[in-house]
Amino acid sequence: MRVPMIAGNWKMNTTIREATALVSEMCPLLNQIENVDKVICPPFISLAVVKELIRGSSVKLGAQNVYFEEEGAYTGEISPLMLANLCEFVIIGHSERRQYFNETGEMVNKKILAALRAGLKPILCIGERLEENEAGRTEEIVTEQLRSSLAGVDYPRSLIIAYEPVWAIGTGKAATGQQANETIGFIRGKIAKLYSDEIAQDMRLLYGGSVTADNIAEFVQQPEIDGALVGGASLKADQFLSIVKQTSEIRSRLSEES
Ligand code: PEP
Repeated sequence: MRVPMIAGNWKMNTTIREATALVSEMCPLLNQIENVDKVICPPFISLAVVKELIRGSSVKLGAQNVYFEEEGAYTGEISPLMLANLCEFVIIGHSERRQYFNETGEMVNKKILAALRAGLKPILCIGERLEENEAGRTEEIVTEQLRSSLAGVDYPRSLIIAYEPVWAIGTGKAATGQQANETIGFIRGKIAKLYSDEIAQDMRLLYGGSVTADNIAEFVQQPEIDGALVGGASLKADQFLSIVKQTSEIRSRLSEES
């Protein structure tokens, strides 16, 4: 069975001091929860500090973005090589980057390829906008995003995909467990066609979009959903802990039953 993952995307929140306080509060408690990969993705400036704070624990670290060149005159950017010694995961193609920073499918693809080359594990975000959802184009959109993001990726072993409908991110209007399960099942089918059944069955596919301690159970009890990418609720220690704890309990129960 796939190990579930809960990843917290802190977005552009927390100073170094605030990040230190939040991790110091959460890490000892997160460390005790088993059978879930617990990943936190603070802003770049806090990665080194957080890396030290989580050392020796089971909590893992991710970045929120990466550039696709290794080094050079790209003012303000961070390269995969810089991240490789610092963290294990990197979020790529988040809809906020596509929307506010004009990231195209081609750029997302270059970032995925560069991250994999550097040994980072990408968390690729895909998902449709509200008008696309309302027009019944969800499957078409995620198919196109998968195709463009994964061009030239021969063997996406360490890749994680987060299905994040744009209309659900930060809106408090989450998809239903059933809706998310259907689309994630569809994405798994596409991965099987692009690669193989084995790769599709091994790959972790997350849901993201207004996940809270009150609705996480609805998602992680679905057979296709392997956890969540959590934004707002990952900044509140009690919420994030509860999300991770419920995921561990539900998935352990389901694996005993199967
Ligand atoms: C996200 O940032 O990926 C996200 C899902 O945000 P939120 O949980 O706040 O909707």
